[in-house]
Amino acid sequence: MTKLPKHLYCSNCGTLLPKNLMNSLVLGEIAYCEDCGQKFQFKITGVESEAKRKPLIDWEKTGVDLQQNMEKLGKNIQKVTKVVVRKSIKTAHKVGEEVKKFGKEVKKFIEED
Ligand SMILES: [Zn+2]
Repeated sequence: MTKLPKHLYCSNCGTLLPKNLMNSLVLGEIAYCEDCGQKFQFKITGVESEAKRKPLIDWEKTGVDLQQNMEKLGKNIQKVTKVVVRKSIKTAHKVGEEVKKFGKEVKKFIEED
């Protein structure tokens, strides 16, 4: 943050500058002395302008990345689930075939006897 003095005086006419004018300056706005019309503008220091240009964390990008990762995760879960279900169906079908075969064997055995 830019360190502000408690009171600011116009460098041109010496008038005490009002608080709202100082607030405008803090926000980077141009302000004018009410008495003589002297123009004021605070220069933001290099560190701050650098921070303004390049935020430490790009939340928008982070959000998009997170969303994409969640989508990927969801797709993977869907894929794995499908494979498991498909395998289960195959297994059930196989078991069914075996039971059928066993049933035929039993029937044959009973009929032969
Ligand atoms: Zn002035």
